[in-house]
Amino acid sequence: MTKDLLGRHHAVLPDWLALYYEEPLEITHGEGRHVWDADGNRYLDFFGGILTTMTAHALPEVTKAISEQAGRILHSSTLYLNRPMVELAERIAELSGIPDARVFFTTSGTEANDTALLLATTYRRSNTVLAMRNSYHGRSFSAVGITGNRGWSPTSLSPLQTLYVHGGVRTRGPFAHLDDEAFIAACVADLKDVLGHTRPPAALIAEPVQGVGGFTSGPDGLYAAFREVLTERGILWIADEVQTGWGRTGDHFWGWQAHARSGPPDILTFAKGIGNGMSIGGVVARAEVMNCLDANSISTFGGTQITMAAGLANLGYLLEHDLQGNARRVGGLLRERLRSVAAQVPHVREVRGRGLMLGIELTRPGTDEADPAAASAVLEAARDGGLLIGKGGGHDTSALRVAPPLTLTVAEAEEGAAILESALRSL
Ligand code: PMP
Repeated sequence: MTKDLLGRHHAVLPDWLALYYEEPLEITHGEGRHVWDADGNRYLDFFGGILTTMTAHALPEVTKAISEQAGRILHSSTLYLNRPMVELAERIAELSGIPDARVFFTTSGTEANDTALLLATTYRRSNTVLAMRNSYHGRSFSAVGITGNRGWSPTSLSPLQTLYVHGGVRTRGPFAHLDDEAFIAACVADLKDVLGHTRPPAALIAEPVQGVGGFTSGPDGLYAAFREVLTERGILWIADEVQTGWGRTGDHFWGWQAHARSGPPDILTFAKGIGNGMSIGGVVARAEVMNCLDANSISTFGGTQITMAAGLANLGYLLEHDLQGNARRVGGLLRERLRSVAAQVPHVREVRGRGLMLGIELTRPGTDEADPAAASAVLEAARDGGLLIGKGGGHDTSALRVAPPLTLTVAEAEEGAAILESALRSL
């Protein structure tokens, strides 16, 4: 039962580790798109453990791969050859679209971005980095140093000189009212202006769709336009695909592909979903960039046999079952269903996103003011109705986040939408 844990977690966890819900939830097990709490209540999972459960809870194919590998060996060392690691790296290199790609595995998205920064700053001999306003890239010292989202950047001290540019958010700020073309032009002008006032940066890092920021993004093609400016100056582009990779956005396998004219990024980082719950992160870069380090650099637990076996089974399942196509089809239906509900709920400013990565922005009715209290109320009401969703946003957590496992069925999408509808109507 959860009750005995409630007081105890304050004793051991730091105060800055905020839990969801007034009465925090203890999840004990899951199956498919459902999870159960310690009191036996069942929930439809529209947050997939913040997208870490990419395919499904307790997916038999992944469970089998993990238990078979556990019976052989969990981990030897990255200093020895490791077959599942090589095989997964080969598949990811091919899927990445990056020519002459090399892969390096880490244990988290934070460590992946740290590695990307290590590569980019070394390659370019510059510790100046461009990042997007409202961004989130992880919790290490350097990842916090490129995180524009104030709610997730607990220190302003940084090993990097970071400059933030416009483009990730369209609902707020000076360019909010512009159409796609004018928005992109304004963002490019902002980028050029920033570049005029700084030392040559190593890289621009960006999430193709901002995850923690509330599933917001600039128009398709934005990073293609940025890319032209960056390439002229030799600045690298790092795409943080920790939330957007593996077909989540439905239309594309990677988020950067919505900006396809720009071609693949110089460096791509991934994590979360690929392990379906096992901790895998990683970096993909073309060999010239990946090989710029001139001393050893290892991640002891990056690329363990057990996580790699899980990743291989999970990726194989995803591709064989065309889960990207499922995200597009089921996500499309879900978005239209939510949009029709939204039209009748004055708190809903917009329903945005693509595939199974949908954001619902809540504002005080009749105003542009973010309404974090409404977002929390809907989160609670959805839980009461048997549905788990997420929250996100910029300085204020006023967006709801919907990111179910990619195997979501049409019936489950309808069931979840009905619960969300009554939670929204209860505002
Ligand atoms: N980048 C993005 C876009 C993320 O959403 C996250 C996690 N929310 C991270 C990096 C950090 O990943 P991790 O928590 O695995 O360190």
